[in-house]
Order: sequence, then structure tokens, then C-alpha cells
Amino acid sequence: MTHEIAVIPGDGIGQEVTPAAVEVLETLAIDFEFVEADAGDAVKEETGEALPQETYDLAASADATLFGAAGETAADVILPLRTAVDSFVNVRPAKAYPGIDAVRPETDLIFLRENTEGVYAGHEDRLTRDVSTLTRVVTESASERLAEFACDYVAGDDHDGFSIVHKANVMRETDGLFRDTVKSVADENGVETDQVLMDAFATRVCLDPEQFDVVVCPNLAGDVLSDLAAGLVGGLGLLPSANIGPDRALFEPVHGTAPDIAGQGVANPAATIISAAMLLEYLGYDEESDAVHEAVEDTLENGPRTPDLGGDASTEDVTEAIGERL
Ligand code: ATP
Ligand code: MG
Repeated sequence: MTHEIAVIPGDGIGQEVTPAAVEVLETLAIDFEFVEADAGDAVKEETGEALPQETYDLAASADATLFGAAGETAADVILPLRTAVDSFVNVRPAKAYPGIDAVRPETDLIFLRENTEGVYAGHEDRLTRDVSTLTRVVTESASERLAEFACDYVAGDDHDGFSIVHKANVMRETDGLFRDTVKSVADENGVETDQVLMDAFATRVCLDPEQFDVVVCPNLAGDVLSDLAAGLVGGLGLLPSANIGPDRALFEPVHGTAPDIAGQGVANPAATIISAAMLLEYLGYDEESDAVHEAVEDTLENGPRTPDLGGDASTEDVTEAIGERL
């Protein structure tokens, strides 16, 4: 079976790291059809549109999308692209890799963040010059969909269960509905859960990240806490992410366009190549996904390394080294 993969490199180092990940995927014996499309600042300058309709349509119909980064236009690109794949969960691993100077090298977490509602879907109003309000939206259906995904996730990947992070002691209605819905779906599926208040989680994860494994969060909490965890594992350079929908998904590095190093051929391709490994797992190629993860880890540990990790290798050197290990 052929899988159609949309490839949207975007701006800055997206133009360098996305082809590197495609190069790695091409070394595998899988029938992929890569279709490239434009998005971001450069195409906006040319055409007036940061996300051309054909790029949106491609992401909405391809089996999976690999996205690089967009500059000034990031919000105009990535938010509609997440809608194109109807993404309801953002999967963000925060794992300390070898060769990285991490604050907490023992960190190995997976955040499953609700991706459609909470305060980010809320309505903000300015009532008067000096008073503004925000309405928060939490639904049973979105909480259920996330919880079902979390149950499948922990079962498929051999985890003991998951932590539900919330603030239901204060936001009784919204986080109360979130917590109760997620908990009851987990109970029905025989999945163990524990509950952690989001402020307590912030402290506990810094002091001892090993007490957590899979973490299920509402939208805003997941955004903030997964960035906090990114700090624990040594910054953005190596972190992948996945936006999963019911029928398709979009994979992207957590980092942005890195304008300070763009065009020099020295961007670290690891985050995007690990995102490609998540794409493989999503499509059911577990063995190939593991092999890519291992090849990246081995390369991070033994080199060659790009300058951000203290080496002097180019993006291409590192990509080739990963390909050879595969
Ligand atoms: P954007 O607005 O697109 O997010 P930014 O200036 O915030 O751009 P980021 O891409 O978020 O830049 O990167 C922040 C810092 O981390 C920069 O100094 C950048 O060079 C570095 N960095 C990010 N990704 C990589 C990478 N893949 N390889 C090497 N360095 C990186
Ligand atoms: Mg940035």
C-alpha cells in the first residue's frame, strides 16, 4: 500500500531539516509517495497567502504530514493545518537524549494535550477599557476522545497508566468535567490513573520527573507544562511532536525557524527525524520507527554532531550518519 505523505518545509531551517527527515524515510523499504507543498513567510510574500488552499487540501487528504516551521506567519499556518487533520490531541514526548546537557537527564515523559478547546477555544471580551473576560470551554466529547486515545496509547506502548493533570479544585465545572470524564473512560478500559493538580505537577516534575510517565492535560496546562518539561531535557533542539486526528496526523519539530542559523546548513535535524519516527509509528511501522529512534540516539551519543551540540558537523553529515546506521 502506498502512503501519501505531505511534506511542508516552510521557512528558515524548516527548509533544511524537513528534507533531511524525508531522506531518512526514503532509506526504509516502505512505499511512500512524498508530495511537497508551500507554506509560511516566503509563499506569503509571493502570493499574499501564508497557507495556500492547495497546501491545506493536501494536508487534509494525505495519510500524514511532515511540517518544518513557519516564521512570522506561524499562527496562520500551523493552526489551520491542525484543523486540516482534525487534530484533537497533541503528543509531545519530553525525553532527555544522550549527548545533551539536560537539567534532569532522567526525564522521560509523554504529554497528551487536549488540542481543541479550553481557554484557547474560549471567547475573550473587553467589557470596558479596564475589564476583560475569557470564557473557557470544556466538553465531555472532547475529553472522552482524548481519554480514549490515552487508553489506547498506554496499552499499545506498555505503560502502567497515566496521570490526569487538572485544577478541578478551583475550576470545578470545567476541569471537574475534564477530570471526571477522563477518569471514567480510563476506569471503563481498566487503565490505572492518578490525579495531580497542575501547580503541584509543575513543582514535582522539576524535582523528580521519574515519578511521571504519560501525562494527560487540558489545552493550556499541556502547552505550559510540556514546555516546562522541554526545559528539563535541555531545550527545544531535539523535541518532536505529533498532532493526531481521527484519520490523519501532522508531525513537526517543537523548534521554530531558527533565523540565527538558517541557510548555513548546520541545523540539527534530530527533532524532525524523531518526528518522522513518530509518523512511522502512527502508520503502524513500529519496527522501522524503533530503528529510526535508535539510529538517532546512537548518532547523538557517538556523533557526528551539529554545532548546537558542540560538534562541527553539517545537517547533511548528521543525516547521512543516521541513514548509514539504519
Ligand atoms: P521562531 O520565531 O520561528 O520560533 P526563534 O527565533 O524562536 O524562531 P527557534 O527556532 O524557536 O527560534 O529556536 C530558538 C533557538 O534554538 C535559536 O537560537 C536556534 O538557533 C536554536 N535552535 C532551534 N532549533 C534548532 C535546531 N534544529 N538546530 C540547531 N539549533 C536550533
Ligand atoms: Mg521560537
